[in-house]
Amino acid sequence: MRLLIVEDEDRLARQLAAAFEACGYAVDLAFDGETADFRLETERYDAAILDLGLPKIDGLVVLQRCRSAANPVPILVLTARGSWHQKVEGIDAGADDYVVKPFQVEEVMARVRALIRRAAGQLQNELRHGALTLDPRTAKVTLDSAPVRLTSHEYRVLSYLMHHRERIVSQTELIEHIYAQSFERGSNTIEVFIGRLRRKLGPASIETVRGLGYRIGVP
Ligand code: CA
Repeated sequence: MRLLIVEDEDRLARQLAAAFEACGYAVDLAFDGETADFRLETERYDAAILDLGLPKIDGLVVLQRCRSAANPVPILVLTARGSWHQKVEGIDAGADDYVVKPFQVEEVMARVRALIRRAAGQLQNELRHGALTLDPRTAKVTLDSAPVRLTSHEYRVLSYLMHHRERIVSQTELIEHIYAQSFERGSNTIEVFIGRLRRKLGPASIETVRGLGYRIGVP
């Protein structure tokens, strides 16, 4: 899962990024509204965290532009303490949820997980397919209740497929959702990750749909 964090307080932005990265997310950072606007227009995210008080372009304007461009990315807004009108404005402008500053990082993470889960049409926190489970809270994967060790990229591929199981996911879509912007991307690496996942999870765990992509779970 790929996340955009928009926050002009450097320390806070990096603290959030580190927490999400430790749980298997690919994270892009933007420190002003202009960069956020550009990233939202050009990249695909599974969710965005958006501070409202931003340099260059106000967070509320970024949000409005994003929605008027019909971008459905789930957005969690960070609002100033006690500013109820900011919350109302944010939600009216198309935010899916909000957190008031100062906040606990765990709360932000739980809310982002819920947004991603809902957007993917999943009801449970823990994702299951047959004997395979994936828990986005801990980034842990088990097969027949035994833990499976995955690299961060293997985990991201599996997490994306598990969130969208029973649907064919193309290689391009996977690439868009598992790498941070700064990362050198290569299309053949997806095949490598899928191959390694099959070795760890069983050859039938991930289906290749010729010319279209990959799928977990037969419809
Ligand atoms: Ca701010």
